[in-house]
Amino acid sequence: MNDKTSQAPVQKAKGVFIDNQWRPAKSGRVIDVYAPAEGAVFAQIAAGGAEDIDAAVQAARRAHEGAWGRLTAVDRGRLLSKLGQLILDHVDELTLIEARDTSKPLRQAHADILACARYFEFFGGAADKFHGETIPFMNGYFVATEREPHGVTGHIIPWNYPAQMFGRTLAPALATGNATVLKPAEDACLTPLRIAELAAEAGLPEGALNIVPGIGSEAGAALISHPGVDFLSFTGSPEVGVMVQTEAAKNHITCTLELGGKSPQIVFDDVDLDAALPSLVNAIVQNAGQTCSAGSRLLVEKKAYDRVVEAVIARFSTLKAGTPEMDLDLGALINPRQKKRVESFCARAADDGIPLLAQGSVADGAPQAGYFVAPKLYGPVPRANTLARDEVFGPVLSVIPFDDEADAIATANGTDFGLIAGVWTQDAKRATRVARKVRAGQVYVNAYGAGGGIELPFGGVRKSGHGREKGFAALHDFTTMKTIIVKHD
Ligand code: NAP
Ligand code: MG
Repeated sequence: MNDKTSQAPVQKAKGVFIDNQWRPAKSGRVIDVYAPAEGAVFAQIAAGGAEDIDAAVQAARRAHEGAWGRLTAVDRGRLLSKLGQLILDHVDELTLIEARDTSKPLRQAHADILACARYFEFFGGAADKFHGETIPFMNGYFVATEREPHGVTGHIIPWNYPAQMFGRTLAPALATGNATVLKPAEDACLTPLRIAELAAEAGLPEGALNIVPGIGSEAGAALISHPGVDFLSFTGSPEVGVMVQTEAAKNHITCTLELGGKSPQIVFDDVDLDAALPSLVNAIVQNAGQTCSAGSRLLVEKKAYDRVVEAVIARFSTLKAGTPEMDLDLGALINPRQKKRVESFCARAADDGIPLLAQGSVADGAPQAGYFVAPKLYGPVPRANTLARDEVFGPVLSVIPFDDEADAIATANGTDFGLIAGVWTQDAKRATRVARKVRAGQVYVNAYGAGGGIELPFGGVRKSGHGREKGFAALHDFTTMKTIIVKHD
């Protein structure tokens, strides 16, 4: 950031957003927000807690039973589409907020705001096109299924893509008529707080969309255990995911969990390497590797190992981290804790004798106080090593050689995760066989789309979580089915 921005006064906390209005958190406390590229405080948010969560849940309940609940699907859709348009109208303002809060390159922040708008456009358009069906039954009966909203839905999102996560979790919940309470991440939530104002401007009735910023162990814990919440949607770490699922079970409600991964890119000997290379590298560099669906394992057929690795090394060595305005390949990590986590994986790799094949650099002029790390390429990484099995959540790519198709599938499926995968080959039959056997919620063939595709059902298995977001599948998860059986003869 330039001198002008770094000397600007710290932005004051807006409060908690309940019934379309800002009010101070009951605690009276605020939380400092750091710009990761600067390593300095530039804003504050309210420290919401249990009382604020309770007020937000009550507001949502009133909305669900009142004005919001009475709206037709067409009108809900119109409001969401209008919010999508307002987000587009404010794209420049929102891009700057998102970039500074997360430190991602401006180009990426801009793409994220467009994606956020797309969520509201897509689910706004879908609101009146999602419905139940009739079922042929015994003579004298009429049977129909109806998709009903859960009621009040609780949402917890992480700091890596605040704008996209906001759209991904709230747009389908609202489209199906739920009233929502969101606890965003303390590390980066300024874009969601600004978009809440746009939602009110679009005309969302009071209580349909409430936001309580605060720390996870206070506001988050109060939300996941609140008996007035009918469904939970969580994206974040597997550890907190277990807490969410446990609390949901205690209240006899269901949840979707999106908990990250160790996603493989499987490269066969017949890969079109020129076409693949940008995706192979970008899949781990995008958002400094802080992406749930980052392609963090590069599985390469032994026959092609030297050729593929040489090309990846050449590209990796040119990568540069910098401030949002520098708009380079990647920004800083979100906080010092995340930086330390990534560095400790690298230190362990050195201890374990894993070769560092290449690394990028931090740009000259990037602030010393920023939480930058240079992207790193390791290989060959033994399959049992932590670098081959655990989520680093940073710009660290592990290369793992494999023998043949069967070995590729076994290696791809050799972690506790299963979120997405990429298969690179020009043999269509092999691509299809592998895609069908890899354990993941999404498999790309000759492409890789970390985070992309609003229309495409997305979610994981096992430690990556469960439930599907995006696409029409999200509308299923945010509703429950009622079957109405009428005897008319
Ligand atoms: P995290 O603790 O799971 O944070 C995710 C969200 O959960 C945040 O909003 C957080 O609030 C909230 N939270 C934390 N403790 C909670 C609790 N006891 N009850 C309810 N909500 C709670 O993840 P993190 O600490 O930010 O990151 C740690 C690791 O998780 C990363 O290194 C990465 O491996 C993984 N991760 C995955 C994703 C993903 O997209 N799947 C995203 C982020 C992180 P506060 O942060 O405000 O306290
Ligand atoms: Mg921040």
